[in-house]
Amino acid sequence: MKAIAVRPGTANSVHLTDLPRPNVNDIPGGRGVLVKVLKVGVDATDREINEAKYGNPPPGYDFLVLGHESFGVVEEVGPNVTHVRPGEYVTATVRRPGKSIYDLIGTCDMTSEEVYFERGINLLHGFLTEYYVDDAEFIVKMPTGLKHLHVLVEPMSCAAKAVEQAFEVQRRMKVWRPRTAFVMGAGQIGLLSTLILRLRGLDVYTVARSPAPTLSSEIATALGSHYFSSRERPIAELCKQAGGKADLIVDATGSSSMAFGAMEMLGHNGVLVWTGITGGNQQVQVPGDKVNLDWVLGNKLLLGSVNANRTHFESGIRDLALGEVTYPGVVQRILTHPVQGLESYAQMMQLLVDGKSADGKTALKVYMEVADG
Ligand code: BGC
Ligand code: ZN
Repeated sequence: MKAIAVRPGTANSVHLTDLPRPNVNDIPGGRGVLVKVLKVGVDATDREINEAKYGNPPPGYDFLVLGHESFGVVEEVGPNVTHVRPGEYVTATVRRPGKSIYDLIGTCDMTSEEVYFERGINLLHGFLTEYYVDDAEFIVKMPTGLKHLHVLVEPMSCAAKAVEQAFEVQRRMKVWRPRTAFVMGAGQIGLLSTLILRLRGLDVYTVARSPAPTLSSEIATALGSHYFSSRERPIAELCKQAGGKADLIVDATGSSSMAFGAMEMLGHNGVLVWTGITGGNQQVQVPGDKVNLDWVLGNKLLLGSVNANRTHFESGIRDLALGEVTYPGVVQRILTHPVQGLESYAQMMQLLVDGKSADGKTALKVYMEVADG
């Protein structure tokens, strides 16, 4: 069967390759789930892997099959699988366990080992192919009514974890009633974080470079968030407009200068969550004394949040469902650029690199349509 792969370490090596079709019995203990791939989302991580900035092939291979944001339909299940059945829609988690205690209790997103295993990213093949098989543990059922949001569940799981972690660590405050949140970045993670925070009743400011109106500004506004363009106005004015610093900030810009810059916009007792994957080598300057002093005097907290486990996929799905009834039809506007067929890998990568299509439309979300269903 066909698959889209790269040779990690070699820039621009994206190509079509051939893999044997997996079998439900490849997974021991009757726990296999064979999935027919329908759609796969791609993002900046895939672009950076193709730029040789990130990612590693599985042991014994010189290529890595891309794709970590999957949507498919169950083809066949092993005798010990009960939570999904053939014909049902599913997605799959991305990380696979190592050996630390966190891995053993179903939280491999919190592994304490340096080496991590991620399908389509690090040491394991991804989903940009026709079929995959995996242990039932990693297969998450998707409600048919959310079929139209398909590949957004994986990015949603990352946003869900980021916000859940923020609330979890803020239990240190005994009483914490966040009112204002800033979301830095209006890509998929930024917009999905905006959705979750709006559903929690926060007053949200979504920050991106481009002046409104853009598709992102329209989506943010439709979710009841305030949109702030950092190109139109100095970022310092954000706190003025919001009537003060934020209680919670989610950075999803993928820019380390924005991530550090956000440290100056967090209020006392607040929490700043970093979610960006910055594969480069950029150096940034920070007003270190000022930030250090502020952070100590204000008991502020900086939290890194990577990936997600099964529980975040499940809560992400619940919030997507709540989002659909609260802001009908808004989230699907993120899904801008379908690409037809695995053979069109070059077009897929070009859209990621350019960030827009030939007609000038911003590629907020590029995804591959592998099969109908
Ligand atoms: C993926 C995460 C992954 C991270 C780092 C992101 O693009 O969505 O699942 O953990 O990259 O590899
Ligand atoms: Zn991703």
